[in-house]
Amino acid sequence: MVSVKRTAARMLFGSRYNNVPWGQRVYVRPGERLMREAQWRLKLRSARVMSLEEYKATVPLGEIEEFLSCMMCGDSRQQPLFEPTGGRNWRYHVVRCPSCGFLYRNPNIRPERLGDLYANSYSSFLTGKYAANRQRRYQLTMDAFSPVFEHGEGRRLLDFGCGAGLFLELAEQRGFDAVGVDLSPDSVEQANARLTKARAYFGAPEDVPEIAAGGFDVITLWSVLAHLPRPLEDFERFRHLLAPGGVLLILTVNAGSLLLKAYESGWSGFTKNHLMFYSSATLPTLLGRTGFSGVAYAPHYGDTIEAGTSQLPGPLRARLRRAVENSDGGNMMRALAFADDEAISRWGQRLRVRRL
Ligand SMILES: [Zn+2]
Repeated sequence: MVSVKRTAARMLFGSRYNNVPWGQRVYVRPGERLMREAQWRLKLRSARVMSLEEYKATVPLGEIEEFLSCMMCGDSRQQPLFEPTGGRNWRYHVVRCPSCGFLYRNPNIRPERLGDLYANSYSSFLTGKYAANRQRRYQLTMDAFSPVFEHGEGRRLLDFGCGAGLFLELAEQRGFDAVGVDLSPDSVEQANARLTKARAYFGAPEDVPEIAAGGFDVITLWSVLAHLPRPLEDFERFRHLLAPGGVLLILTVNAGSLLLKAYESGWSGFTKNHLMFYSSATLPTLLGRTGFSGVAYAPHYGDTIEAGTSQLPGPLRARLRRAVENSDGGNMMRALAFADDEAISRWGQRLRVRRL
């Protein structure tokens, strides 16, 4: 199948795009965006929609798993679409909600068994060779939502799922009074060794009095949203923890990505520990139902394009940007959620804010 696709691509495009990295080709080859979008619509029209009972009869249920209905709109019907796999190590099923389009793993992981997903090597993964790339990605995203992150003095920030403290380090450098929480004790220990003023805690926000008191100006969720098994409960809590005028930043894989449409089950967003996949079509439901007043997005063109280190020729860079914007299909989704009208008037002026 792969070689058939490769041959077809060679016939269509010759060798002109061989030097373009894989993750960028679908955005720059002429006509490819429209073709992938048509392919996607066809897939959705032809994929079967089942009742939850029918679906349960077709898919095995693991010991740490449970079957879910759509967490965004409550529809229990299932449209099975993908079966991502990491070789022999893991495999799961991804369904789409036929009502609202939400993509989620089903069966999903029971919240109390979430710890079983995370191997001991998780904290070294977070601080290893990925550290520099991650910090660059944080900087680019903060710039995209300027001026929210420019001056932290006198402002409180909570990093939810802070890992080994790579973002807290940047936040304290920018003057924020910053705290983080994480469910990995090893990561929290590493974070506190790295930090000077900011503090990391093990556990949930309500376990730490300093955090449970709320009053945060900024809450950040860096690559955390896709890991949450009970997003509505978590977002209600975040909303309460925000001060008037507060904002919540989200970076997560984009379920509207053109790369998902091209690679399907092989898409890079389907990682071992991801549970739910949001797009700009489904995130507003989560935010609206949990009391947020607005949301704005920053399209994701890829780190090398945004950092100015891409080797792509100028016209191809321009074509990539257009393809991302016209398809709402960057590979990551970056969103800023506003707690209330005050937050919109304070931070939304340079952004296109969608009211909820
Ligand atoms: Zn739904």
